[in-house]
Amino acid sequence: MSTAATSFPERNAAEAADLALTTAAAAPEVLARRIRQRRQMYVGQVASYLLGASVLLLYAYDGVISMGVPSLFWLGGLLTIGTFTVLSEAGLGDRFEDHYLTVFQISAHMSLQLLFLLAVPTVGVAFLAVLFLIFAFGTLRMTPSQAMLTWGLATCGLALVFLASDLPIGLPVTTQLQRAASMLCFVLVIGQCAFLGLFGATLRKILYRRSIELKAAYQRIEELAELDELTGSYNRRCIMRLLDAEIEKSRQTSTPCAIALIDLDWFKRINDAHGHPVGDEVLRTFAITIFANIRPADCFGRYGGEEFLLLLPGTDVDAASRTLDRLRGIVADLDWSAFSPGMRVTISAGVVTLRDNDTADTFLVRADSALYSAKAQGRNRIATS
Ligand code: GH3
Ligand code: MG
Ligand code: MG
Repeated sequence: MSTAATSFPERNAAEAADLALTTAAAAPEVLARRIRQRRQMYVGQVASYLLGASVLLLYAYDGVISMGVPSLFWLGGLLTIGTFTVLSEAGLGDRFEDHYLTVFQISAHMSLQLLFLLAVPTVGVAFLAVLFLIFAFGTLRMTPSQAMLTWGLATCGLALVFLASDLPIGLPVTTQLQRAASMLCFVLVIGQCAFLGLFGATLRKILYRRSIELKAAYQRIEELAELDELTGSYNRRCIMRLLDAEIEKSRQTSTPCAIALIDLDWFKRINDAHGHPVGDEVLRTFAITIFANIRPADCFGRYGGEEFLLLLPGTDVDAASRTLDRLRGIVADLDWSAFSPGMRVTISAGVVTLRDNDTADTFLVRADSALYSAKAQGRNRIATS
């Protein structure tokens, strides 16, 4: 993902997603990134307290609270944030799984709001509104048990304020300035909650995208582990595994199973005359030709060098011979002159069907001896045994 093209929440969420995928034994670059993330969060918190203090300043300007309240609120916020910043820079958080120390941060900020609620109940609703913001922030990081714990703490604090006291908690709306300040207090909290929600949604989107990319990469790895790089056919390990499975299936379902060992004729001469790269292209073209002319159920893999194994499930010896002779004809009739004028490529194949006492090895030995006799008979032909 290009950093330049991404928005602020997306970029930060992307980094958070990276962290979510890293292990506890974090590498130095991960630790550095965590510190950077925490710094960004503390800057956000300072901005949030600044907005809160500005609203309180409006109330103070109107005379509903003392001028000291906004300053103390700002100072209290800075002290709390400062404490966690010092702890963060000292690397204390990195010793815990929750390196943000979420529960402690939420508890500290919540206590600060409740303290102000008790001290200045006339604008108490403004501090209560901030609790929503604190929890919106916390839920980005909290585990269910942490959420229950902090919710419990909030409930105790609120019970203390609402039930154990008869403080007249309110929100001043007498003058036009008070009404504007009260409105601002909600508007700002809602805005900040929306921003945090957006951050969380972006994080989820990125994680979802990463999981899809991961799945595709895993599938590609599986394919690479199964396919021959040059020809795109199955590699030897895979075609041998498929052979074992076909033998098993054929025995279970009592259906015939044929295999063909196919070898390119005089391939060394092609290499010698036209070079190894041309030989590679010939192998690739041959494989594509075979793929285009076999059934979906047939399996085609590279047995080694210029020798290939074709599995023909549910096929008896006559049908298999016909299929192989058809393939032989197609390869022989192909116009190979694009590689070199006058070039001709032919194949020979040994075709056999599974016998009761066959193992994969004896099955292949029989196919090999059939191939040998096809070669001995003059090449560009199919032999069975
Ligand atoms: P025959 O008709 O008896 O099979 O003769 P041949 O020349 O095809 O058989 P031989 O075993 O003498 O030579 C096979 C050649 O295939 C030798 C080897 O260099 C070449 N070969 C094997 N793998 C590759 C490959 O991946 N690319 C290229 N270009 N050549 C390969
Ligand atoms: Mg050959
Ligand atoms: Mg060979």
